[in-house]
Amino acid sequence: AVALGMPEIPVRRRKSRQVQVGSVPVGGDAPVSVQSMTTTVTADVNATLQQIAELTAAGCEIVRVAVPSSDDAEALPEIAKKSAIPVIADIHFQPRYVFAAIDAGCAAVRVNPGNIRKFDDKVAEIARAAGDARVPIRIGVNAGSLDKRLLEKHGKATPEALVESALWECSLFEEHGFTDLKISVKHHDPLVMIDAYRLLARRCEYPLHLGVTEAGPRFQGTVKSSVAFGVLLAEGIGDTIRVSLSAPPVEEVKVGAQILESLGLRPRRLEIVSCPSCGRAQVDVYRLAERVTAAFEGFPVPLRVAVMGCVVNGPGEAREADLGVSSGNGKGQIFVKGEVVRTVPESQIVETLLEEALRRWPPE
Ligand code: SF4
Repeated sequence: AVALGMPEIPVRRRKSRQVQVGSVPVGGDAPVSVQSMTTTVTADVNATLQQIAELTAAGCEIVRVAVPSSDDAEALPEIAKKSAIPVIADIHFQPRYVFAAIDAGCAAVRVNPGNIRKFDDKVAEIARAAGDARVPIRIGVNAGSLDKRLLEKHGKATPEALVESALWECSLFEEHGFTDLKISVKHHDPLVMIDAYRLLARRCEYPLHLGVTEAGPRFQGTVKSSVAFGVLLAEGIGDTIRVSLSAPPVEEVKVGAQILESLGLRPRRLEIVSCPSCGRAQVDVYRLAERVTAAFEGFPVPLRVAVMGCVVNGPGEAREADLGVSSGNGKGQIFVKGEVVRTVPESQIVETLLEEALRRWPPE
């Protein structure tokens, strides 16, 4: 029998190397991790730590902070020390901030050596410092900031251009014997992004950080990221994910966690199987589903709870659920594994479901 919360058909993951981002392994057989990025000014240490704490509480496993100024770089030691989850410093052009981030105890750095090489060839020094400190580096290629040379060669940010850019950036570190890398090739168009990651997955063994860049506001961004990540993760591609939304980062984490749960890449916690309602419904299914969701929020045992609008099809349609209710005639038929065990007045449905859940799946 399949354990509660675990998938019946597990995803077969692509074989990637593993890097260690602080306490969180990424790649290899490590679970796919969820990450996000703070929106505070990094130099505002209290605000940044507060946001990191909120993200951690929401299930974020790795957090990235932007380091555009020396004030931000100076804030890194305290942030890295006090954050409960590994902190990645996101640096664009200034090699000195990379050294500062490594010295500060950041768990990883995101930097593109191509940017740094243009100004000053510090790549060898970064490779040495990161190697000595065992700090991995993410090469983050974005469609919007693709190298000019590649843009001219490919005409636009095609999957081939993104992958060529990423592998070239990797080679700048590989020349110095540094291979503790992970890669992202982000694009705002899910189809281009999917192709780019598929290509990259075939061409290297580095762990991959999935992202759809500039995915948009909450609704659109959630759908775009879910579609793109869903395709790739179901094919086993992707070792850590970041959902980008024009919304508070806690929302990104919730969406990321839900994507992983949907694919069985994280144990499912609560899954509400509610019917869409139809002309046969004898109860306000939307409201009942919301009340059941609220009542079961944080329930410590993974459960699939069905909320069905009528007794005609209810238990049959929801046979796969652990427990549930079908409503009709002002009453609720409470069922467990498809068998009706009790019938209660509508006003007692939610409490009865909880009671049955606690009795049959007592928290340890
Ligand atoms: Fe309609 Fe009943 Fe099915 Fe809900 S369970 S969609 S109310 S038939």
